Amino acid sequence: RISVAALPRVVGSTLRVPLVTGERVEYANLDHAASAPCLEQVRDAVDELLPWYASVHRGAGFASQVSTKVYEQARTSVRRFLGARDTDAVVFTRNTTDALNLLARSVPKHTAVILFDTEHHAALLPWRGPNVRRLRTPASPATAVLDLDRALREAPVGPRLVVVTGASNVTGEVWPVAELARVARRHGARIALDAAQLAPHRPVDVRALDVDYTVLSGHKIYAPFGSGVLVGRSDWLQAAEPYLVGGGATSRVTDHGDRLGVAWSAVPERHEAGTPNVVGVHALAVACDVLGRSWEQTVEHERALLARLRAGLATVPGVHELALFGAEHDRVGVVSFTAGGQDVGYLAAALSAEHGIGVRDGAFCAHIAVHRLAHGERALRASIGLGTTEEHVDRFVAALRTLVTEGSRWEYELRDGRWAP
Ligand code: PMP
Repeated sequence: RISVAALPRVVGSTLRVPLVTGERVEYANLDHAASAPCLEQVRDAVDELLPWYASVHRGAGFASQVSTKVYEQARTSVRRFLGARDTDAVVFTRNTTDALNLLARSVPKHTAVILFDTEHHAALLPWRGPNVRRLRTPASPATAVLDLDRALREAPVGPRLVVVTGASNVTGEVWPVAELARVARRHGARIALDAAQLAPHRPVDVRALDVDYTVLSGHKIYAPFGSGVLVGRSDWLQAAEPYLVGGGATSRVTDHGDRLGVAWSAVPERHEAGTPNVVGVHALAVACDVLGRSWEQTVEHERALLARLRAGLATVPGVHELALFGAEHDRVGVVSFTAGGQDVGYLAAALSAEHGIGVRDGAFCAHIAVHRLAHGERALRASIGLGTTEEHVDRFVAALRTLVTEGSRWEYELRDGRWAP
């Protein structure tokens, strides 16, 4: 048995929410994959920084010096968390979406981009045009590797970039990143890892995986203060136009009458124009430090809860779990399923209103993946993490069983597109 006391703690674990009956119950947050709750240590670190909060880099005052130090030290925490190379740039962004858009804007012209079509929209959509090749997601990790190998053989000469997720936000399945990176390397391609869903659950080692770029979001690693990061090779980022233009991205601006002379800063400042999110970046860095110190307990805790969740779901009539690579494949704490044709929007609403359980329904910003795996239906997703307890899982499974077998004693109607009792 694992000691729950050894796990990093999250805020809100005793939160009580109102039910349709008027009672209040402890909130069961089974939507960690969308946004994880805040770590207590992150909250405390933010609280401690707030009196010292000031503008970074350009201020001469003491608070500004403190904020600048905290902001720059955050790069070291992220680097350590990901095992990044000393030469990698660490660019702070708003989230994973922002980081991937930054990367997409920074690749050399005519870069051939190869990715699988079931990616999250944040990874799928920034790449458009004739140089993008979308591969149909294969039935097994081994086929993914073979398909990528073939695509890279056929890719035009010149810079190439493979974009792959570490763990699916729909099925939680872990992708064979190291194997895909090996293939990319063999063909002289670079590889970018979307670690938004992997990083909250498993250690990510950039050097061991041999990936060139890694992106993640603070709010998914228990630091919900609006920050994300792109870590990776600095040459393309250094050669690219700034992602945003403005203060910080420029080292010198001169007036030449009919035009301005502008010298852009070097990375990372080149792509961090404007006043940065010091608080969010500090929160992200502290979350990296805390998670990085407790992987053994975190992985074990989640493995046990996920097994309990999946075993419970398997006993609910009509529930069909979605999987790209099969039920036995390694996955992090995310499970999506259909429920025998029942409206998943109604089920999600009833789980909340009658049982105080938060899940997510729909297609999870991965429309192609959900559409294909759920055969055109929408799905329900339960995702676990450090805020999840055995009681949450058991309550969820029992509530779902009651709803699909007996229905609800409340009448539900659609209001503004959502079911409500
Ligand atoms: N990639 C994956 C795999 C995700 O799960 C998400 C968030 N659902 C994103 C990218 C986008 O993250 P964000 O919304 O924080 O930009």
